[in-house]
Amino acid sequence: MIIINYLHIGIDDTDSPDGMCTTYLASQIINKLHDNGIDIIGYPRLIRLNPFAKFKTRGNGGVSFKILNDNNVDLAKKIVLSEVKRLSVFDCDNTNPGVVFYDGDITQEMRDYALRAIYSFITIDEAYEFGKSVGCEMHKFKKGRGIIGSIAAISLALDDFTYELLTYRIPKNYGSKRQIDYESVYNMDRQTFPDTFENIDYEEKYVAIEPKTSCPVLYGIRSNTPDVLLKAKNMVKVNEEIQDYCIFKTNQHTDMHIQKAENIASMKQYGCYEVVGTVKNNPRIIDGGHLFFYIFDETSDIECGAYEPTKSFRKTVSDLRPGDIIKLYGGIGEKNTFNIEKFQVIKLNVFQYQNPICKCGKRMTSAGKNKGFKCRKCGNKIKSNEKLKIRIERRLKNSSFYETPVSARRHLSKPICRFNL
Ligand code: ATP
Repeated sequence: MIIINYLHIGIDDTDSPDGMCTTYLASQIINKLHDNGIDIIGYPRLIRLNPFAKFKTRGNGGVSFKILNDNNVDLAKKIVLSEVKRLSVFDCDNTNPGVVFYDGDITQEMRDYALRAIYSFITIDEAYEFGKSVGCEMHKFKKGRGIIGSIAAISLALDDFTYELLTYRIPKNYGSKRQIDYESVYNMDRQTFPDTFENIDYEEKYVAIEPKTSCPVLYGIRSNTPDVLLKAKNMVKVNEEIQDYCIFKTNQHTDMHIQKAENIASMKQYGCYEVVGTVKNNPRIIDGGHLFFYIFDETSDIECGAYEPTKSFRKTVSDLRPGDIIKLYGGIGEKNTFNIEKFQVIKLNVFQYQNPICKCGKRMTSAGKNKGFKCRKCGNKIKSNEKLKIRIERRLKNSSFYETPVSARRHLSKPICRFNL
């Protein structure tokens, strides 16, 4: 039996808010390896980690890829390290690259570490100790925080996954307006959705494949399969030179960050969960356009928020009523509020209880606890405490899912269009 051994390479924390992108750096390394006769096996991986990580630049992504563990590995390591040194944005305080090499099989404890990097926080020392214990060769630049994500990017098991094709600009165009023909993006979306997704936010008329920052990425197209990506790329017309492109296999849009919460009391700050609860009060909007309400279960309650950037989703959330049973997906942020990414209606409360109408036509008010109702207009009193049960029309539907718009969606959030795959 032939045993194939790989060298896994993980890279993270090379970019800054003003420039570079770890995926671009990885694609440059892959090209250089190829020029030296070393080809990577399979697709490189773009792994999104804890969305609440404190030092993330944007989407908290680390990159990994693997090559055959043969007599080329010393040259490969030399190329990787010299490219990381050449391209990382070292003058940004918050850029602390980490490169990890690992030869051997990915073990269960490594897979568990990767899940911890998605669900919780890991310190540089913890990552270093863990890496040492499993035999990683670690290279820290400056503080070397990137080793946290690099080990996770190598180690994560991908049961569910998607792909992203990223095109890169030529360096002289960095920072200038991207020359993308938006009409061609609409056309690409019409022809390739739902194999590709997250291309356009139709409500906001927002072309989501175009990044907002001045990084090397010209655009990124996300998909369920790699085959559709080249077709989609050919449909997108641009009026600037594309230096290069690279397809990554990724945990984006898989809900991998979401853990099933047994109940509300078991959820912790900075965790992301799927949780069932009953709506306690009518959602209310506050200054700034954020919308809040509470859910409860037999263990506790928690405030839930749909924030201003989620735009029309707030209108949907505002249709919730006390007594509705819903399953929420999202994360508990800095202010201990559950930040909703999507929800499913389990059971709508279709009844409302109202005070009875007096024979004079006026709605009656309570005459005191267990004292029935009285009419403020004509003075009439009734002894019964029974309210009127009224059926109400609901716009929301039982079993249906409702999600934030593309423009406000997390990289890890699974869109409804991927639910039936
Ligand atoms: P980009 O999306 O442009 O690649 P980014 O948002 O991924 O940027 P990084 O520059 O990679 O940001 O910085 C994120 C840092 O957080 C890295 O150093 C990474 O190792 C670290 N990190 C990742 N996951 C965790 C975690 N669970 N706990 C603590 N630190 C983490």
